[in-house]
Amino acid sequence: MTTQTPPVSERHAFQAEIKQLLNLLAHSIYQGKEIALRELISNASDALNKMRLTALVEGSPLDPDELGITLTIDKEAGTLTIADNGVGMTHEELRSNLGTIAHSGSREFVRNLTRIPEEAKAINLIGQFGVGFYSAFMVADRVVVLSRSHRSEETWKWESDGTGEFTISPADESRPRGTSVILHLKPETKEFLEPWRVKSVVKRFSGFIPQPIRLDGEVL
Ligand code: ADP
Ligand code: MG
Repeated sequence: MTTQTPPVSERHAFQAEIKQLLNLLAHSIYQGKEIALRELISNASDALNKMRLTALVEGSPLDPDELGITLTIDKEAGTLTIADNGVGMTHEELRSNLGTIAHSGSREFVRNLTRIPEEAKAINLIGQFGVGFYSAFMVADRVVVLSRSHRSEETWKWESDGTGEFTISPADESRPRGTSVILHLKPETKEFLEPWRVKSVVKRFSGFIPQPIRLDGEVL
């Protein structure tokens, strides 16, 4: 009999301020759930910019036209995926970027969030304070992030239901460079499984994104 190494799955607790933020987002009655899509597309676009600059600085071959964002709807699974072929994240980057708030000013902002009188205003500010990713939990009750850094051959899976912990484990399948954020939509946000709805949100909130955003092969 051969001994098998168990799959390495690490559990981590979110930093206190993130727990506080997730709690606020999960119970928010704010209607503007579109901002989740705006923030995730903005992150994808940032990752593409970083890839373009890295290739320039390092003199590595990269066709800028290949950089893009792809949205995929899976009605059966109830998921909306935002994928990019940007810089991607290593295991360590997933743990620190999607688990802790490094910037003290942002931590302070989150601590004072509940004191902002209008919830809509507070939530709209989270992108500016470097915590936009967590808006994913306004629309999803489970978020899976698959990522492969441009500096690595390994694909990692980050996963959380937004209640205090996240896990990082090796992904079952490898993927090309970049990141996919898979949103398991809440029952009340299933509207984001409708292509026309996603399209209108992208047109309204992500019109300034320089890279192509595709849905079902169509550039939006
Ligand atoms: P911000 O974008 O203002 O830094 P976010 O909460 O939106 O704050 O994202 C936190 C960090 O997670 C980003 O700075 C980035 O390092 C990392 N990140 C998020 N999404 C992606 C992505 N699609 N590709 C690569 N890194 C990402
Ligand atoms: Mg962001």
